Amino acid sequence: MSSNTENKTCNCFAETLERVKNHLTDQGKIPAGAIDSDFRWQGQAYILSGGEYAPVNPKIEVKYRSPKKHGGHARNMSKIDMTIMATHCCYCGREYQRKNA
Ligand SMILES: [Zn+2]
Repeated sequence: MSSNTENKTCNCFAETLERVKNHLTDQGKIPAGAIDSDFRWQGQAYILSGGEYAPVNPKIEVKYRSPKKHGGHARNMSKIDMTIMATHCCYCGREYQRKNA
């Protein structure tokens, strides 16, 4: 795990992915001789703007049933999904340095 120094970027997510890869390989969960193995964070976001971001961020799911014009409520749930950008690394606790923070 990287040290918690504010000016140096950490590689916690990449290091964790590498540890998991080694673990699954060592445990034989990925059989020897397997090809095209691919390890990635589920829901990984690629952010083009400057600054430092976690590859994966907490997601919030909102559900509700809208009122109908003439009373009652919609049969189907309405949904809003949103992602909240993490301000700190969840592994080492370092604050991400944003260009326009
Ligand atoms: Zn970190």
